[in-house]
Amino acid sequence: MKKDLMRGLVLILLGSLILFLAVAAFHTQRRAQAQLEGQLLEAGEYLARGWESGLEIKDLSVALYESSQLPNLNLIILKEDGEVVLRLPDQANAYKERSREEFRRAFAGEDRFFIRRFEQSHNSKLYYTLFVPSKSSAIRLGVEPAFPWQEFWPLLLYACLFTLLSLGLCHIWVGRKTKAYIASLEGLREAMADLGQGNYAVQVSEITGAPFNEVQALSVEFNQASKLLEERHEYGLQRMARLSTILNTIIDPLLLVDKDKNLLYSNSQALYVFGRNLDPEDKSYPQILLTHSEELDDLIDQSMSTGEDLDTILSLTTIKGDLRYKTLISPIFVDGAAYGVVVALHDLTVEEESAAFRRDFVANVTHELKTPLTSIRGFVETLRDNPKVSPEQAQRFYDIIDVEAERLEHLINDILSLSEAEQGKIKNISRFDLSELIDEVIVLLDDQASDKKVSVYTEDSLPECLPVEAEADRIKQILINLIDNAIKYNKEGGKVSVTAYRLNPQKVKIVVKDNGPGISPEAQKRIFERFYRVDTGRSRSLGGTGLGLSIVKHIAQLYGGEASVESEPGHGACFTVTMNI
Ligand code: ADP
Repeated sequence: MKKDLMRGLVLILLGSLILFLAVAAFHTQRRAQAQLEGQLLEAGEYLARGWESGLEIKDLSVALYESSQLPNLNLIILKEDGEVVLRLPDQANAYKERSREEFRRAFAGEDRFFIRRFEQSHNSKLYYTLFVPSKSSAIRLGVEPAFPWQEFWPLLLYACLFTLLSLGLCHIWVGRKTKAYIASLEGLREAMADLGQGNYAVQVSEITGAPFNEVQALSVEFNQASKLLEERHEYGLQRMARLSTILNTIIDPLLLVDKDKNLLYSNSQALYVFGRNLDPEDKSYPQILLTHSEELDDLIDQSMSTGEDLDTILSLTTIKGDLRYKTLISPIFVDGAAYGVVVALHDLTVEEESAAFRRDFVANVTHELKTPLTSIRGFVETLRDNPKVSPEQAQRFYDIIDVEAERLEHLINDILSLSEAEQGKIKNISRFDLSELIDEVIVLLDDQASDKKVSVYTEDSLPECLPVEAEADRIKQILINLIDNAIKYNKEGGKVSVTAYRLNPQKVKIVVKDNGPGISPEAQKRIFERFYRVDTGRSRSLGGTGLGLSIVKHIAQLYGGEASVESEPGHGACFTVTMNI
């Protein structure tokens, strides 16, 4: 800016200088010419008057010629008939002077000045002609006017000095004035560059004062614009964040695919199930790299070309294996043109599994209920239809009915316990001593252990007092199920050890170990399933429902823990339960 201004000012000043010098030169020359004209007039009249008064024209002329200060003076005196009376300086070449315009007009009585230019020498001469009637002659005085440099030089010098001085002053003035402008414009430029980089919070300091009104207005406008942009950007980000949070909380995978089948968006669930941590919002990539499904690719094509929503079931490969997904594909159109599609996937595996699970559960419960009920009804009918049954026999039948009814009660209680544990409700939390509860359960099962000749004892690792906070009834249920199993499925004379200790301030571990027949690796994988028994007949005869370990597992999960088993067939089993209590 400063350079441009200076360049402009230099041009203006130089232009003015040249114009001034041209005008000055013109006037100087005019003045010099007027001076010459005066001198020529004076000289002409001097010659004419002297000649007319009887003096010898030749003497007069030579005296004038020799004394004159006029530059390159030449003098011709011509008679009317063309005879040259006198010519100074004396020149050999004879011109037909009489025929010249100035002489013709002089003899016609017209005195005049005129300038003649010589093309060849590029010179010019100033002439003055006058007629001397009494001598019937015309005098022509000529001078070669030179430019009056002696007058012009000082003018030129002063003009140049003045111009230089003006330039210097302009330079200082422009420098001062433009400095603040340039600084403020530079600030604006940097702020604009920042804005371009996405820094919408940028603001410029507003310069105030008379010479900066435009810059100030610009700064105010800029600050308002950047504030508005920042607010809009912030609003956009908040909306994006809200939307993203909502989409990421959806447990179903969701994809946004463009018309070239590149991913524009994928919620975190989609990235998780398809095992990719490359967010398409950072760098877009083909959807097939995420889902590996050509079938889905084809469906996307179909939806985009027909413009119709598609609803189908696809089997997709995920990190959990091949899963069946209900797949909804909806095309998106922007201004009538296909933009892409939204793909919403809903995992059917859980629903299908839980439907199968419910079916199995109902079948199992029905079966488990049916056996004791059939038995009860059979004995009741026998007693009713045979009035002659002996009292001993009747008593035996009553005992069997009682056992079966007890089994039914067991079964119903276990189903209720399991259902409560599955519902995940924790109520009646109290602080109690787990060591004391273990002792209590061992005493409770003492008769069963004695009948089986199994010794149950606690290990040294069990602290004297182990305070925990939980539902005592449920923890008791865990202990009864594990210790009861360890006695039930043990050999005669077997041993059962029980311990519990704190793994960390939150976590408690309960371990029930026996030296019974153990559990095969295949059975170990399934024993925590509902109604699973290794030996159904034996379990039933021992009063088992097949739900005990399932209840243990669900209660452990209720307290943020887990139940597991380690066993080597023939060398006993070790059940471990960890819980945050
Ligand atoms: P049940 O009512 O039949 O005991 P559980 O769920 O408690 O049902 O146990 C499931 C199966 O696991 C049992 O039928 C039994 O075969 C096996 N089992 C449980 N505990 C032991 C153990 N300590 N030793 C050997 N087998 C066991």
